[in-house]
Amino acid sequence: PMSKLDWLTKEIDGLKDQGLYNRIRTIGSAQGAWITVDGRNVLNFCSNNYLGLANHPKVVEAAKEATKKYGVGPAAVRSIAGTTDLHVQLEERLAKFKGAEDVITFQSGFTANLGTISALVGKEDGIYSDRLNHASIIDGCRLSGAKIVAYEHNDPAALEDAIKQNASNFRRALIITDGVFSMDGDIAPLPALYEVAKKYDILFMVDDAHGEGVLGKGGRGIVDHFDLHGKVDIEVGTMSKAFGVVGGIVAGDKKIIEWLRQRGRPFLFSSAVTAPDAAACLAAVDLLEESTELVDKLWANAKYFKEEMKKLGFDTGVSETPITPVMLGEAPLAQQFSRELFEEGVFAMSIGFPTVAKGKARIRVMISASHDNDDLGKGLDAFAKVGKKLGVIR
Ligand SMILES: *Cc1c(COP(=O)(O)O)cnc(C)c1O
Repeated sequence: PMSKLDWLTKEIDGLKDQGLYNRIRTIGSAQGAWITVDGRNVLNFCSNNYLGLANHPKVVEAAKEATKKYGVGPAAVRSIAGTTDLHVQLEERLAKFKGAEDVITFQSGFTANLGTISALVGKEDGIYSDRLNHASIIDGCRLSGAKIVAYEHNDPAALEDAIKQNASNFRRALIITDGVFSMDGDIAPLPALYEVAKKYDILFMVDDAHGEGVLGKGGRGIVDHFDLHGKVDIEVGTMSKAFGVVGGIVAGDKKIIEWLRQRGRPFLFSSAVTAPDAAACLAAVDLLEESTELVDKLWANAKYFKEEMKKLGFDTGVSETPITPVMLGEAPLAQQFSRELFEEGVFAMSIGFPTVAKGKARIRVMISASHDNDDLGKGLDAFAKVGKKLGVIR
């Protein structure tokens, strides 16, 4: 007999047949160049812990101290009783660090996007969104109820065409792009997009989750990288990647930030990040302000690894950042590649549809400042061995 859950069995079997079923690995240690995955000590090639801060002694110590003073739970949303002095300090320090008028923090980059987009545009409005924008932007756009006009990836002329065709239908509009595209590692042409936003006087927002702590002077982000301070209205970021902790950042015009404190729904209706989290993020800002050493090491490691992968004959796509996609095509091949790498002691997950387009499955290698030359060499050897075995390279 049919049951109301039969469709799920079918869907899940379908995923397994197509090589798209996520088998989730379990981590049994702190993050770092080497981690314990499903009980094995392996080289970590797929965390977003770009600078190695997730287990940095100063960051861990800050969280411990804050736990002693504040305990663990926030016990409230930010707008009621969840804002500690640490949250306030963090927002002030981030604004100063990034050279922004003001900053509001959220629980994650995901909620930052949901809250920000839906607070700025509604049913009568329009959103011009890069075709390859992150899922959290897409969900934020849908949630807002605004009409979504997708423009060709990283194409300011296509953006301008889209505006010309649609502007008269909208009360107001918002242009949104990823800063660093998380699956390909290419960078949005922000100055040219800004010129279009300025010409048509449209709100301009960039989601710099993978640029926070990575791009710009000492990791100050994409707005700093392109010296567009005061020009990009909204710069979303995250403290869950290079900062090594957790939390979302919205930096920008102080009037917009003030509005988000009133109408950013995850700020009003979901509990704050904990005080230990906020303290750890503050310690991460301290470290970034003290020295550019970790950011410099990250870029040197990434440059070396990408060059060597190209020499081996791998297609690493269009990346301009430490994100290193290894393009493999079909999802089952990418999954098999990942399993074989694991057998060689390298942890690098495959990524397939719906995270990337069908036929564009890949392994996305995330290089970090915590890898040393020996680690990178071991990783390259494993890629060479598996690549030859599976006929990806010769
Ligand atoms: C990772 C990511 C997010 C989500 O950030 P979290 O803090 O992990 O929720 C948002 N946007 C982009 C572009 C990302 O890569």
